[in-house]
This record gives sequence, structure tokens and C-alpha cells, in this order.
Amino acid sequence: MKAAAFEYIKPQDVPGAIQALSGSAGEGKALGGGQSLGPMLNLRLARPKLLVDVSRLEALRTIEDKGTFWRIGGAVTHSAIEDSKLVDCTPMSDVAHNIAYRTIRNRGTIGGSLAHADPAADWPLALPALAASIVIAGPAGERKVPAGEFMTGAFATVLAEDELVVAVEVLKLSKGARWGYWKFCRKTGEFPESSAAMLMDPERKLARVWVGALDGAPRSLDALAVEIAQRGALAASEVAVSAALDLAVPGQDPVNRRLHVTAVRRAVQKGFA
Ligand SMILES: Cc1cc2nc3c(=O)[nH]c(=O)nc-3n(C[C@H](O)[C@H](O)[C@H](O)COP(=O)(O)OP(=O)(O)OC[C@H]3O[C@@H](n4cnc5c(N)ncnc54)[C@H](O)[C@@H]3O)c2cc1C
Repeated sequence: MKAAAFEYIKPQDVPGAIQALSGSAGEGKALGGGQSLGPMLNLRLARPKLLVDVSRLEALRTIEDKGTFWRIGGAVTHSAIEDSKLVDCTPMSDVAHNIAYRTIRNRGTIGGSLAHADPAADWPLALPALAASIVIAGPAGERKVPAGEFMTGAFATVLAEDELVVAVEVLKLSKGARWGYWKFCRKTGEFPESSAAMLMDPERKLARVWVGALDGAPRSLDALAVEIAQRGALAASEVAVSAALDLAVPGQDPVNRRLHVTAVRRAVQKGFA
């Protein structure tokens, strides 16, 4: 099947891209790496009248050291993050390395992944667990949203039609930080059926456990995270994790529940390994 007809433009800068989107009366879409939008166009699941290519905008392709955090441009590819090995922020390279396979990682962007908001995607789970912020730009200027509040449901975010993800800000972690990330995929490179992430950084007063690959947006398991911060990996018992998921993700079928209990426990074990 072929995509419905659309106009394609390559703006010179971010203001130009925003102007094009806001001038399209909701008929425009940003183009990142095209790894999700491309297939959607061909299947006519998306029929924008205008494609605004942001993948080559210099301002969106930089990774900047901002002292206590890293600022990663919205059009930075998964493979660039994988290769970046950001100092004091190694989880970013690890997560990027496990997204699909290299050809996809060479094109797919962190901003596109967030905006697409696939419930099983990696960045929508990893970034809330890392206490990151998403920087959004639109006609009204820039605003920052905690990553845990960016996705509002399956394939749904806080983005307005004429807004762009221009950057992600990720805190640098202390030397004593513990990070665990685990996902269950039936085949390497496929989207996971369950996933979870854990960050313990006492120096930064961060204790976070998030679970992903749900029907909607990833969820946090705050009470369990506090228990793990106080008692270590032992706190992530089968019973405790199941109880935490009962609260955060009620009504999961038993098979799904089992997959997610396992994902949380494996992420915690990896973090304390
Ligand atoms: C075979 C395959 C396997 C995959 N496996 C995984 C996986 O295991 N884990 C995973 O996380 N992902 C996976 N992906 C998805 C991949 O990571 C895509 O890169 C990602 O979903 C979309 O990023 P993109 O840059 O290609 O965005 P595009 O496809 O260009 O765009 C996606 C959506 O985001 C919007 N958009 C793009 N850039 C911006 C921006 N800067 N601001 C606002 N809106 C924007 C577009 O308008 C569109 O609605 C897989 C994809 C494929 C094809």
C-alpha cells in the first residue's frame, strides 16, 4: 500500500518547524527517523497533508554536558546515544543498545520514540525511571515536563499538534547509583511483553521502580521503591511485587501479571548484581 499524498518540507530551524506545524491547521506531522511514522503512512494509519522533517535540525542533534545533567536533542538517534557512553549516565547507552537492531537505531530518534508513545517502547519507561525531563517547544515557547507525566496513554502524550520534543534532560548519577533494566521479548529486537526499570541513588535521593509494556503509559511503584531503598533487593519478593502491581495496574490477567512480576524482580536483581 502507498502513503496518501503529502507535502514534504525541511525547515532551516526549530522556529521554522513550529511555524510550519502551527500553520498546517492540524494537518501537519513532524518527521523524525520515520521508523514508526513511515509504516503508518504506508498503511494509511496516518494521513498528514504536510510532513515537517526535523531529523536534520542541528539544534535537535546535539548532546550537551550541562554540569549536573545531560541535554540530548530530540532528533538524536538511538545509535548515537548507544555510542555516546555518557559519563555518569551509562543507563542511557545500555537502554539504547537494546532497542530493536542497529539499522532501526541508526534512524530512530529519542524524540520520535517519545512522541509516538508506544506502551512497549523503551524510552517512555527508562526516562521516568531516570527522573528525566522532556523539553517541549511550541508557538508559546519552551516548557519542561517530568518524563513520568509526558505519556498520557497508549500512543498519547501531552504534546499539542504544533509542539516538538526538542530535548531530553537526564540527570547525572552518583558513583553509588544502582540501575536495573529488564524486558521480556519473545525474539531479540521485538517489542517486549513486559519490562521494568529500577534506579536507586541515595546520594541523589532517588528511589524509583517503573513498569512498562502495559496497555497504557508506564507506571511507577513508589511504595515498593521506598522498601527497596531501605531493605535492598530482598524487598522485591514475589508477594511484595505482586501486591505493588495490584495497586498500580489493577485487573491484569494472570499471565500478564506473572510476566510483569518477573520483569520487576529481574530489573531489581540486575540493579543489585
Ligand atoms: C522493526 C522495529 C522494531 C522496533 N523495536 C523497538 C524496540 O524494541 N524498542 C523501542 O523503544 N522502539 C522500537 N521501535 C521503534 C523505534 O524506536 C522508532 O524509532 C520510534 O518509535 C519512532 O522514532 P522515529 O524517530 O523513527 O519517529 P517517526 O517514525 O519519524 O515519528 C513517530 C511519531 O513521532 C512524531 N515525531 C517525530 N519526531 C518528533 C519530535 N521531535 N517532536 C514531536 N513529534 C515527533 C511523528 O510525527 C510521529 O507521530 C522499533 C521500530 C521498528 C520499525
